[in-house]
Amino acid sequence: MKDIYPLGEMPPLGELPSFMYAQVIRQSRFGDSRLAYQIEKVEVPSPGPFEVIIYVMATGVNYNGVWAAMGYPLDVIQVRQRSGEPWDFHVGGSDCSGVVFAVGEGVTNVKVGDQVITHPGWWDPEDPVAQDTGDGTLSNTMKIWGYETTWGSFGQFAKAKAHQCLPKPKRLTWEAAACYMLVGSTAYRMLTGWAPHTVRSGDVVLVWGGAGGLGSIAIQLIKEMGGLAVVVVSSKERGEYCVELGAAGYLLRGDYDHWGQLPAWDNDETYGAWLKGAKAFGRALWDALGERKSPRIVFEHPGQDTLPTSVFVCDTGGMVVICAGTSGYNGTLDLRYQWMRQKRLQGSHAASNSEAAAMNQLVIDGKIDPCLSRTFSFDEIPLSHQLMSENRHPSGNMAALVGASRKGLKDLC
Ligand code: NAP
Repeated sequence: MKDIYPLGEMPPLGELPSFMYAQVIRQSRFGDSRLAYQIEKVEVPSPGPFEVIIYVMATGVNYNGVWAAMGYPLDVIQVRQRSGEPWDFHVGGSDCSGVVFAVGEGVTNVKVGDQVITHPGWWDPEDPVAQDTGDGTLSNTMKIWGYETTWGSFGQFAKAKAHQCLPKPKRLTWEAAACYMLVGSTAYRMLTGWAPHTVRSGDVVLVWGGAGGLGSIAIQLIKEMGGLAVVVVSSKERGEYCVELGAAGYLLRGDYDHWGQLPAWDNDETYGAWLKGAKAFGRALWDALGERKSPRIVFEHPGQDTLPTSVFVCDTGGMVVICAGTSGYNGTLDLRYQWMRQKRLQGSHAASNSEAAAMNQLVIDGKIDPCLSRTFSFDEIPLSHQLMSENRHPSGNMAALVGASRKGLKDLC
């Protein structure tokens, strides 16, 4: 038994070495992803009750890794140290495909040797709220795995709660299996979890960032549910990508300049300019769709830049559902449209175990494509996040190999 194994060489099943290689973030390196991450030798974690250790074959690339590298808006290392954790580093990574290598006390749903993927909802399965509601995302113990927890999928071994594990779709490579669950389960909850505002046949859904991770899965889910996705993107290439995925049409956000926080409602000049932009956007939405029908659901995540427009164009009685604030956190809206047109503004975060499992089943059944766009090597994990932070990443979802010795593998060899 070696102390540490080279990348691509799997230890004997079930035997945890003392150390592993990981892409590590430290506070002294906070900033650009390309510099914040460095490969280091760190200890291999051991499983606590209801936890598993997974030998990571491939990892997904998500915005979480950009935020963690910046140390902003949260210094995730400091937050954990304040709550009593000893580690002065962060091993991120919130999407994973791999092999269960060790299980803690109380684990019954998986065993050593199982090939799994993970969803990112980390919570204490014994928490009363998680148990009573069946929705652990509502528990105060809820954390995003690999962002708010230390041992994510950017190391040879990851530590997760057993309830996060789902079967790896056999037909997918390790890298394709690793790339979709975080965005997929989040999109699934946004579109199905907030009844009565779920997608019905013929419903129009406006999707921001249609070619991104969330957007590419959302388009497919909306089509699967019989809805009509109209997307917003920053280039024609991205728009055409979305149409190929099933979008009914697209708008180019560069054609408008009314983005950002809402101007004061009583300033005729600045508010008037904003309203003109918002109305032009609304008309272009109908043109892209080919009929004068407003979105019953608006799928939001840019936040500060776009929320005023999302609330404005949302149909009477419709819902703006939001899971992020990529462009900023000061979400503003004109309350007159909110109450007089009886619209709903709904926050949504990650997904419950059952929502993640339902999303995974759609992938297993071949109804949703993971949209893997590019697979990076382990060394290139910093590069993949740098591209994402600069919005220069390819459409769809990205992955990186960790334990898999090459691209294209669906099993251990
Ligand atoms: P992504 O792959 O980078 O896609 C986001 C897309 O949004 C970009 O491709 C970009 O597309 C568009 N965009 C960026 N800035 C914009 C702006 N100012 N106005 C309008 N559109 C803008 O990222 P993602 O994986 O989809 O994630 C998006 C956000 O959701 C991130 O902040 C992430 O942390 C968050 N998220 C939250 C959860 C949760 O559970 N709460 C889960 C997953 C993701 P164009 O340039 O083509 O318009």
